Amino acid sequence: MAGLSKDVMYNAVISNEEQYDGVFFYAVKTTGIVCRPSCKSKVPNRDNVIFFTNLEEAIRQGYRPCKRCRPDIGPCYAPTIDAVEAACDIISQEYDNPGLLRELPHRLGISSSHFQRLFKKTIGQTPKEYLQKIRIAKAAELLSNSTISNIDVCLAAGFTNLSSFYAAFRSEIGLPPKEYRQEQARKGSLQ
Ligand SMILES: [Zn+2]
Repeated sequence: MAGLSKDVMYNAVISNEEQYDGVFFYAVKTTGIVCRPSCKSKVPNRDNVIFFTNLEEAIRQGYRPCKRCRPDIGPCYAPTIDAVEAACDIISQEYDNPGLLRELPHRLGISSSHFQRLFKKTIGQTPKEYLQKIRIAKAAELLSNSTISNIDVCLAAGFTNLSSFYAAFRSEIGLPPKEYRQEQARKGSLQ
């Protein structure tokens, strides 16, 4: 969860820290309500708290959005650099999900346009560019270290079709996947 420990998250809930809004949500087992960290409602007993990075997941598990802090209404207050960190964590773990970029802002509880701006400002790349670099690195690794076909590499790296995979690969690596694989094999046999 963006590398945050339960202690850190629980303390953020106790002190209503707005900077964690959009980074995680907390739900209270006894009330069935899910809140933003900054919610001013009564601090729940720690044993009854569950943390989520994703509001939808909390709702799927039967929690209702709090009427007071409205975690279901975005954009939330002022998501900070933590939301970008959370986005980077999610991208590096779920790069193979083709719909990831569409889902991300919603999962972080911020609007799509705000997310784009915040990410670009913090990282210096758009979320799409950042994701593409990770996907291509993964594809290059598979091309070097496995014998699976180009289409399987393409899908494993999160691309949905070969033409977008080839175009992205060429632009990052400078070679088509097939030539890259041959070159890596040549280098390997020289060692
Ligand atoms: Zn609340």
